[in-house]
Amino acid sequence: MPLTVTGPRKRATRYLITLLSGLLPIALGVVILHWQAERTLQLSTAQTAREAVRQFDLMLDNTYLAAQALLPLAGQPCDSGAQLALREQVTRRPFVRATTLSWKKNIYCTSLFGGNYESAVNPDDYVEGTLWLMNGNPVTPDTALLVYRLVDGDKAAFASIDGYHLTNALRLISRYAHLILQVGPNWLDAEGKVHDSQVPQFPVAHHHRVSSRYHYSVDAGMPAGEVWRYMEARYPALFSLLAFFGVLAGVLAHWLQKRSSAPTHELQRALGANEFIPYFQPVVRGDTRQWAGCEVLMRWQHPKEGLVRPDLFIPLAEHSGLIVPMTRSLLRQTAAQLAPHAERFSPGFHVGVNITARHCQDLALVDDCREFLAAFTPGQVTLVLELTERELIEPTDIASQLFDALHELGVMIAIDDFGTGHSSLGYLRNFNVDYLKIDQSFVAMIGADALSRHILDSIIELSGKLDLGIVAEGVETTEQCEYLAAHGVDFLQGYLFGRPLPCDEFIKSLSSH
Ligand code: C2E
Ligand code: CA
Ligand code: CA
Repeated sequence: MPLTVTGPRKRATRYLITLLSGLLPIALGVVILHWQAERTLQLSTAQTAREAVRQFDLMLDNTYLAAQALLPLAGQPCDSGAQLALREQVTRRPFVRATTLSWKKNIYCTSLFGGNYESAVNPDDYVEGTLWLMNGNPVTPDTALLVYRLVDGDKAAFASIDGYHLTNALRLISRYAHLILQVGPNWLDAEGKVHDSQVPQFPVAHHHRVSSRYHYSVDAGMPAGEVWRYMEARYPALFSLLAFFGVLAGVLAHWLQKRSSAPTHELQRALGANEFIPYFQPVVRGDTRQWAGCEVLMRWQHPKEGLVRPDLFIPLAEHSGLIVPMTRSLLRQTAAQLAPHAERFSPGFHVGVNITARHCQDLALVDDCREFLAAFTPGQVTLVLELTERELIEPTDIASQLFDALHELGVMIAIDDFGTGHSSLGYLRNFNVDYLKIDQSFVAMIGADALSRHILDSIIELSGKLDLGIVAEGVETTEQCEYLAAHGVDFLQGYLFGRPLPCDEFIKSLSSH
């Protein structure tokens, strides 16, 4: 088949489109999965932060209760009763590691060191006067400690939480998210280190949550690349599915392109290589059998397939719109080949050229016809455009403008294959048709049965009433020829008078007539 050959340049772009079509669903799928993973991680860190705040609030509730119980003792002597009360809170309250009393900003009694201990208090160390995240105390230096302070005038009671509980919570609440506890300018990491630098921002799913009850906040988040790691771990099946859809889309795109664009491209190539050439078939007068014109029939001189019949490629050329430049080329070749022999033609020699509905969408055909006629001296030839009745055109403004302009040029219009379509009388008048070409199938009926002959007679009669010229095509026998001539058919065309021929052979035959 001539329409399956493809050129190398087209192949490269085709592979590129195939590749892009395959990659598109994969890329789109990955974007959606990435978005989904990001959202899941964000929800997870938010949940982690919420849980951490719940835990720390719970711990601080215990320090608050301990401090509240001890506050009335502040200012009282640090005797064995007071020391017992201090130690009792440490043993009774979960998370509470040490308790202390102070009077007028001076610590004087503690659950540690056997009781008496002197140390000045700087309220500025405490966020809003209540919480201080410190890096150890004299008993356990370098171990984080969170101190809660409850003040009432000169009295104050302190209760502290060991860093061990804090880091445990930071480490265990989530297996995936990283957590930080921030109290004022200090923050504690999961390794138990207290920092006073800027709080780090987590690159993935960072979430900041402030406690509504105590003066601290937590930050949860994940390290860089966590979204991809999550996707790798969670979505292997979806990735396989994406790859499958990618391959499927690629194959489909490849197949569709091959199916739709390869033949069109081949036509385009052939047009560029001037492979579409005109053949000429004589049209004779019904009364004298004198050669009065010809029909130009397109042939494809294919480099590998040889001469290709028009019904194998014209439908595709119409479909792709290439028929317009192909007809233009045919008109130019016809003018160039016939013009040198035009003096042998009878005056007004008919040159029939087939056009399609595609030609009636704009006025370009007018210029093509004007160019064609300019190759001959005026009156030497009559250009007849044959429009098949099988694909009738819409009576649009453009179409009527086109037909008016063509008539002004002296171009005539014939309805081809007449009798096979459904054109109404109104339609024939609308477009100012000049000729009807009776379809071969009706000519073939001559000599068959009475009913078929009746249809043929009606068409001939109708054309007479409408004052239209009539051409019969497919005349193969003298019986058909005589019948048509006897019924007043103006022009005859068929193998009886001559087959479609290349120009030089056509001119030779014309001379012998
Ligand atoms: P068509 O316009 O009806 O052309 C007449 C067809 O009948 C031609 O076939 C011609 O060779 C054939 N024919 C002529 N006399 C006889 C006969 O006595 N017996 C038989 N059996 N056939 C006869 P062809 O050349 O194969 O063209 C087929 C169709 O292709 C044409 O039908 C026309 O519709 C289309 N075509 C040909 N050239 C062009 C063109 O340049 N442009 C367009 N748009 N269509 C074209
Ligand atoms: Ca025709
Ligand atoms: Ca026909």
